[in-house]
Formats: sequence, C-alpha cells, structure tokens
Amino acid sequence: MIIYSALQLKDQIIDTGKKLVDHRLVVATWGNISSRVPKKPQYIVTPSGMPYHELKPGDLVTMNLDGEIVEGNRKPSTEAKMHQEIYKGRPDVSAVIHTHSNYACAFAVAREHIPPVLEEAAQLIGGAVEVAQYALPGTNELASNTVRALENRNAVLMANHGVVAVGKSLHEALTVAVLVEKLAQVFLTAKILGTPHILDDLEIKILRENFLKSYGQ
Ligand code: 13P
Ligand code: ZN
Repeated sequence: MIIYSALQLKDQIIDTGKKLVDHRLVVATWGNISSRVPKKPQYIVTPSGMPYHELKPGDLVTMNLDGEIVEGNRKPSTEAKMHQEIYKGRPDVSAVIHTHSNYACAFAVAREHIPPVLEEAAQLIGGAVEVAQYALPGTNELASNTVRALENRNAVLMANHGVVAVGKSLHEALTVAVLVEKLAQVFLTAKILGTPHILDDLEIKILRENFLKSYGQ
C-alpha cells in the first residue's frame, strides 16, 4: 500500500470532492470527506460549507482523534465528530465520505435498508447498507448512531439524511459511495420489475472473503 504525504492527501480529498459534485452524489457544498494522516492519530477533513470546486489545500483542516484542530484556519465539517468516531472504531478504515446521493436518500427517507443484491456490493460493502437511527445533523448522537449501524461494513444510511461510505483509501471510499447509489437504483428498479432475489448470508460471506483474499493484482 502506497503511503501518501499530508499534502498529497489534501489534493486527493479536493479531487474526490469535485468527483462527488460531478457524479451528482452531492449538491453544492453538502457532504464531506476525510482521510487519516498516515502513522498519526489524526485525520484531514473538508471545511464546512465550502464549494468543492473552489477548495485549496489550505482550506482543509487537520484534526486529532480527540476532536482538536491540529492545523488549518477554516471551520471543520459539522460532521467531523462522525468521521472521528469511525476512525476510532475502525482501524481498517483510512477514508470516510459522506454523500447525499438521490436513490440512496430515498431509502434513507423510507428508513429501509438496501440489501446486497449485487455481487460487487457484497464484495466491497460486505453486507446490507443498514439505516442508522435518526439524529440531527452534526450531533454527537448522529456520530454514535452512524458508527453503531455501520458495524464492520463499508457503508451505512443516515435516516432522512444521506450515506456514509468508508474504505482503506479515498479511492475505495469513493467507489463504495458510487456503488451504494447504483445498488439503491438497481434494487428499487428490480422491485418494480418483480421480486428481487437477495443473496444469503453465506453467499455474501464467501464473496467478501474472496474479495479480501484474492481480488485484483
Ligand atoms: P458540512 O459542509 O459542514 O461538512 O456539512 C454538510 C453535511 O452534509 C452535513 O451533514
Ligand atoms: Zn449531510
């Protein structure tokens, strides 16, 4: 695994933000992105309410896992606590992306989980995208509800709000965020067409284990 410098990670976060807007996973300044700082108990997070296409590396905020600002003059994302709690609970996670993508939001509003009906979802997400209990945006309660519902999977819905996608890199977390939106769209369409066939727990376990063990180069 390549280890990136803090400056490289800031550039990657900004690139990822532009992709969120361009893929229509967020509107305007909503959503937020973070990456762990390698070998330190810190993470870099997007500032609150700034347009992704205008972000400069100096706008990003470095925080420690106690919630203190280590570097940066901007106000950090209002969801920084949620990012912090995920890093504390999931040593395997190095990047967190929060989106408000349309089809996934429909499930978040209906408070219905999205089952892993596609093999790629079983592999990359590791199970269903569950719905975290509702809490106001930016609260400690939202952070703890999100971590609780995420468990050891790579995506979760926040009731009446949006999606959280995590991964071992920004690239993987972005792939998960795109995949959650695809999964929501496919599952909803399959429901309209007929009865979707849900993969069972054993099939999901096999797909996830094979992915972790041997997928890719
Ligand atoms: P921030 O701009 O403060 O990151 O908030 C956006 C958001 O999606 C809150 O849930
Ligand atoms: Zn949000």
